[in-house]
Amino acid sequence: MSCGCNPDLKDGKELVDHVKSKGKDHIAPTVAHVIRCECGETFTLGTVIMNCPSCEMTYVVTPCGSHDKNNIKLAGIKYA
Ligand SMILES: [Zn+2]
Repeated sequence: MSCGCNPDLKDGKELVDHVKSKGKDHIAPTVAHVIRCECGETFTLGTVIMNCPSCEMTYVVTPCGSHDKNNIKLAGIKYA
């Protein structure tokens, strides 16, 4: 657990709070995943916490889990 990420956090809102508390919300993920948002927008995840440019749904992934698209969570509209 050297990076401080907590894989037990399943809720997107908790993940946002956790990543922000570590001051890592503006770092780039290991892989720049392409997100297909539920609103129909497609965008590239440039930071580990990012809002959809269309509907502002907040997407979050922990820095250490950011290689795997399955680790990306939704935190709600404009949560970040
Ligand atoms: Zn969207």
